[in-house]
This record gives sequence, C-alpha cells and structure tokens, in this order.
Amino acid sequence: MRIILLGPPGGGKGTQGDLIGKLYGFPRISTGDLLRKAVQDRTSLGLEAEAAMNRGGLVRDGVVLELVRERVSRPDCRNGYIMDGYPRTLSQVLSLEALDPDRPESVLEIALDEDVLLERLAGRRACLKCGAVYNLRARKPAREGVCDVCGSALVLREDDRPDVIRERFRIYREQTGPLRAHYEAKGVFHRVDGSRGIEETFREIRGVLDIEVARSKGAAARP
Ligand code: AMP
Repeated sequence: MRIILLGPPGGGKGTQGDLIGKLYGFPRISTGDLLRKAVQDRTSLGLEAEAAMNRGGLVRDGVVLELVRERVSRPDCRNGYIMDGYPRTLSQVLSLEALDPDRPESVLEIALDEDVLLERLAGRRACLKCGAVYNLRARKPAREGVCDVCGSALVLREDDRPDVIRERFRIYREQTGPLRAHYEAKGVFHRVDGSRGIEETFREIRGVLDIEVARSKGAAARP
C-alpha cells in the first residue's frame, strides 16, 4: 500500500503522516525532509536543491527522484509507505508509478484555506537537525525555542517566510492541483477537511484508510 498525502504547505501532511505511520506501521517519506537533510549535509544533490527551496520553487525532478528511489528501496518500505510531498507534479506522478508500478495506492488531499494557512505557517518553528515541527499556538515545544526530540534550537524555516509561502501556494495550485483529476480518474482520490483540529482530521483520515488498507491487504492475499 502506498498512501500519498496531498495538501498545501502547512496543511498538516507531516503531522497526519506521522499519525498514519504509527497506526498502520508504514514509514513516512517526506521529500522536503530528505532535501533539507541533503542541504544540511552539503551533498551535491543538496547544493543543487538549496536555491530553489529558499525561493519556494520546486527542486528539479531528477534530484528528487533520486532521493525517493533510494528511500523506497529500503526494507522498511516493503509493505508500504506514506508519501508526504511527493509527487507534486504530473511528471513526478508518472515517475513514481514507473518506479513502483504494482503497488495499490490511496491518495488523500488535506484541504485547507490559504488564509488560515498563512497564519498557521507564520507560527511554525522547525528543528533543522531532526525535522520535528512545532507551532507556537497549536503545538508548542515544552521549552520555548528548543526541540523536544533532540534539544536543538528551533527556527523559522527560510521557506516559511510569508513571501516564500505565497509562492509555494501558487505552485501548489498550479502544479500540484492537476494531480486531483489524475487520481480521481484512477478511483483512488479522497479529500478530507483539514481545517479542524489534528484529532478530528485524523479521525476522518482513519475512516478512509481503515477501508483502503484492509482492501489492499485482501488484494495482496488473493492468489
Ligand atoms: P515541504 O517540506 O514538503 O513543504 O518541502 C519543502 C521544499 O522542498 C519545497 O518548497 C520544494 O522546494 C522542495 N520539495 C519538496 N518536495 C519536492 C518535490 N516533490 N518536488 C520538487 N521540490 C520539492
């Protein structure tokens, strides 16, 4: 089973992806996290990605695909995985389908209003070391400015600045929006309302995935 999370930046894909991962036992793969790690490690892929990320644009397909290819080939992805932030364009959809063609998939869009998100993102703080994300209102760290997980300093990510966020919204509308029609045509698309709290949104996601995951297990068990 492959669960693909769509949704505008700051809409809760990472938070919901972690909850889904815990419940169903699939790893969450965030291309944003993989790219940020590559940037931090100063790898050649990271150096290429950095400028596009800082201005809120998309990183070249080949760079992202290489990271995804390596990640999904690991043993923990054998039974399934959750994609957070990939695919983001129709050409990435085709790359993923070519990379792992036989896997049943379920696509969830966490839908949210851009104005609500702008406010949310302004309060978002991230740990660049371990990737944990907090919110000054909804998900505060235990100690102000310090990551609960690894103790590093929390920062406002360069790509969470308001001007950069607007650019990321535009790209989501224009480049990722068309994925809806593709997945609707495949019969795997589900939309959930992300404007409520974390628990309520997750309850709705669960309602969808309990059925989808059971169905994919049933299909795998049939001779
Ligand atoms: P995210 O944490 O998913 O919001 O991603 C942060 C940034 O990483 C994005 O604004 C892009 O610059 C880059 N990025 C993440 N995933 C992709 C992708 N699938 N294709 C291209 N760029 C990506």
